[in-house]
Amino acid sequence: MNILVIDDDAAVRKFIATTLKRENHTIIEAENGTEGIQILQQERDIDVVITDLIMPDKEGIETIMEVRKMNPSIKIVAISGGGKVGPENYLVLADALGANATLKKPFSGQELLMSLKLIE
Ligand SMILES: [Mg+2]
Repeated sequence: MNILVIDDDAAVRKFIATTLKRENHTIIEAENGTEGIQILQQERDIDVVITDLIMPDKEGIETIMEVRKMNPSIKIVAISGGGKVGPENYLVLADALGANATLKKPFSGQELLMSLKLIE
């Protein structure tokens, strides 16, 4: 699958990219929602968007709503370590706004692959 990974943390992007490339997925990385949306407008064949929720510039909740508006059938996985209110609240919100799966940071490569399998 072609997977867009949006996270402001380079280490998290690298971990996700390494895990998914090993399973023969193609990965495109973006540092924030603005960059991610730009990539989605150019690349029409992205199957899955994995997005962090707390990011500078454009955060994940807004990003999820825009992605959903652009493409109702694309799969979205929300990932978060949470902020002041804790990751669960953000992930519940992401779920309500159209994410197909949510993952609480830190997660293992196995958990990431499992969440992708569940939304296929
Ligand atoms: Mg972040």
